Amino acid sequence: TMQVFMPLNFLGFVYREIRGALANIENLFKLLDKVPAISDANNSTSLHISKGKIEFKDVSFHYRHDRPILRGVNFNVEPGQRVAVVGESGAGKSTLVKLLFRFYDVSDGGIFIDGQDIRKVSQSSLRKAIGIVPQDTVLFNDTLYENVHYARPDASEEEVKQAIRLAHLEHFVESLPDGYQTMVGERGLKLSGGEKQRVAIARVILKRPPILLFDEATSSLDSQSEGAILAALREVAQGHTSLVIAHRLSTIVDADNILVMHQGRIVEQGQHSELLADNGYYARLWQHQQQEANE
Ligand code: ATP
Repeated sequence: TMQVFMPLNFLGFVYREIRGALANIENLFKLLDKVPAISDANNSTSLHISKGKIEFKDVSFHYRHDRPILRGVNFNVEPGQRVAVVGESGAGKSTLVKLLFRFYDVSDGGIFIDGQDIRKVSQSSLRKAIGIVPQDTVLFNDTLYENVHYARPDASEEEVKQAIRLAHLEHFVESLPDGYQTMVGERGLKLSGGEKQRVAIARVILKRPPILLFDEATSSLDSQSEGAILAALREVAQGHTSLVIAHRLSTIVDADNILVMHQGRIVEQGQHSELLADNGYYARLWQHQQQEANE
């Protein structure tokens, strides 16, 4: 019987590994036209995370030579800080995230995590250190419980349920016909955008990566789901370094720092109240969104 069970166990393991790898990169690959060929440096080391500090030093980037996208971008995210990136569509916000995850290499300058150039560390160690909550989360054809559990297969049932609770999904689970065991995904129950995003948050709560990237959904959610997502994000951001791409400024008023991007440059940065007092580009974006909200 050993001979029969061994390969089955092994296949189960491989299946989980593949699903785990897929979920981290799910959304970013969708953003790409093609998968770029980035390979590890010959003498690459493993990324060693001590505090989780991110530094962009004079980063410039173009997808095509004739069209610069980022121009001399400088910023730091201090360990444990929550930093937001805002700016009009096409300003280069998602490109920052793609570079941090090293889907592309910078054209000039460098990106450092805890002092290590991300081009010099193995991609697997880099991607293990970063958790992503994408705009559009992919659910597997499996139970809701397994959709969270696979993020860390060695997690106990109590830990999985705790992650679901911290992600503010408990009431949702209680409303489901089979609770945690309800089948979701393409062939199961369809979840709303806000519910899917909370599943992604539960996954990162379970995975506990030192660095978090949150790509806020562009489509607006009802205020109840938005409130639940914000509360869940506060839970997950505790003690982690996080970078949030924000489309609605109302969700990031309490960020430690806000980077305001315009045509590939950071044109202003500071906290919400400071940026309003400066009465510049951010203040205009804010007034514009306030007007839209009142209409
Ligand atoms: P949005 O708020 O609409 O998501 P963004 O600020 O995140 O916008 P990016 O997605 O970073 O903007 O795009 C910045 C610019 O880079 C855009 O003009 C876009 O057309 C271009 N771009 C993005 N991805 C690619 C690609 N794979 N190849 C070529 N150009 C690209």
